[in-house]
Amino acid sequence: MPLLKLKKPFGRLIALRDYDPGLSDLAALLIGVKPVLYTDFEPGNWDYLRVLCAELKLHYVLPEELYGSKGFKAVRSSGKRMLLIGRRLKDVKLAAESWHRSPTDPAWGVLLGYPECCVKAYIAWRAVAEATDLVDFTFANTADTERLDFTLNNVFNYFSRLTGTPADRTAFDRLRARNKGLDIASLQVISWHPCSYNCAPSAKLGREIFGFLEEYLPARALQLKETLARPLLFSGKYSYAVLNGAAAGGTARYSGLLPPRSLLPAPAVKTLERCGRLSAAGGAALAWRVSGGQREKVPGRHELLNFTAKARG
Ligand SMILES: [Zn+2]
Repeated sequence: MPLLKLKKPFGRLIALRDYDPGLSDLAALLIGVKPVLYTDFEPGNWDYLRVLCAELKLHYVLPEELYGSKGFKAVRSSGKRMLLIGRRLKDVKLAAESWHRSPTDPAWGVLLGYPECCVKAYIAWRAVAEATDLVDFTFANTADTERLDFTLNNVFNYFSRLTGTPADRTAFDRLRARNKGLDIASLQVISWHPCSYNCAPSAKLGREIFGFLEEYLPARALQLKETLARPLLFSGKYSYAVLNGAAAGGTARYSGLLPPRSLLPAPAVKTLERCGRLSAAGGAALAWRVSGGQREKVPGRHELLNFTAKARG
């Protein structure tokens, strides 16, 4: 993956890569939103990471060397290694000492700098993960559904959200195959999962991370905004339609569907494509043409998730 040239130097750094670690996670660390990040990396990429840490005066620990590769964060078969990076050595060491912790131990998420409300919600979701996707869980926790902050859009963020069942793995592979050339793993502003789409602490941090991207990598920021600040009709973890338009009061006007493409069944996609308006309520969606005419039921169960860059009123 090529380096992204910064609009202006950040410290002594002139370019960053959006890969091991992901840019949103790295941005959060650089601006002090997160104390520590962990990432896996291919041994061939060590030079990039070593220079990155040296240039930005970041501390790192290779936890597996100290604490073994037991636990959920260990690399199983990829040949990759794990790395913890932080601004203060103390924080990095604390995280390394917690290497054995389970993902459902709240201390781990808090050490990484995620808001406590979001850590708690994520752990609660893990207990029902096979029956309920995290996005449905988060939307159900969202009190004000009129406008959802686009920096909290985690619909395309499958990290820490895959259940590992064969069916889930197959669906994820199909989704990626359907979006060749699009790096789905990088389509997020915050690298963690919010407790609700109104979560104030996460929205604040999301705006700060997005501000960093706008300042140093404006083209990347624009690409993220154009992908994430869109209303979408959500019917499941791998079934949704991103609408090129805007929504208000449970009704959307749109001129077509945008990537990423999901596994939403063809009848629903066709209905949406021949229409330009839709409304959703109580799990059902109706669509109709711009010129009017009959309203058609969009097959399946759907929620309208109105991710937008407009501030909540
Ligand atoms: Zn939260």
